[in-house]
Amino acid sequence: MSAHDTGGHEDLPVAARARRLEERLIAAGLASDEEIDAFLTRLYANASPVNGARMAARSWTDAAYRELLLSDGNAAAAELGLTVPGPADGGYQLRVVANTPEVHNVIVCTLCSCYPTSLLGPSPGWYKSFAYRSRTVREPRAVLAEFGVTLPDDVRISVWDSTSEARYMVLPARPSGTGALGEEKLAGLVTRNGLIGTAPV
Ligand code: FE
Repeated sequence: MSAHDTGGHEDLPVAARARRLEERLIAAGLASDEEIDAFLTRLYANASPVNGARMAARSWTDAAYRELLLSDGNAAAAELGLTVPGPADGGYQLRVVANTPEVHNVIVCTLCSCYPTSLLGPSPGWYKSFAYRSRTVREPRAVLAEFGVTLPDDVRISVWDSTSEARYMVLPARPSGTGALGEEKLAGLVTRNGLIGTAPV
């Protein structure tokens, strides 16, 4: 069963759907309750937007790292000691998309809630909401404006639809006037929403 299969329970709240899936895995002998708990504990233990922020700040101060980040997100995470398993290791391909003066990026999972949890921390409730998932594709400019991100008309918006195999992180543009700041201070400027694309940084 792929992460996008809902098993026909689209009308149930997410938590109930997740519990039903767990029960089926346990009933089928594929995983025990303890194994699922241990997996979730591992998943969330070090999951924090501080991780994605460190990657962004490093890329602002190190051109070679920026190149790696934009070409191979999994390798760029590993370079900072962060573990984001790739597809060959049961994980996903991490694609990092950079904001520029011409393009603003925003991530969404239109089908469910795929998201690079280990780098951004647990996803916010609105990311999983039907309104965000449907409207971000249809009217991204209006959605971003509701988050307080108003973009000039000549800035193009790229919407990246995540899947269980490929997940995205936005690389915000380095704010102006930060030339004197070191990497750690720069990382402190980056927010979770900035890494989703619903904040400027
Ligand atoms: Fe998803």
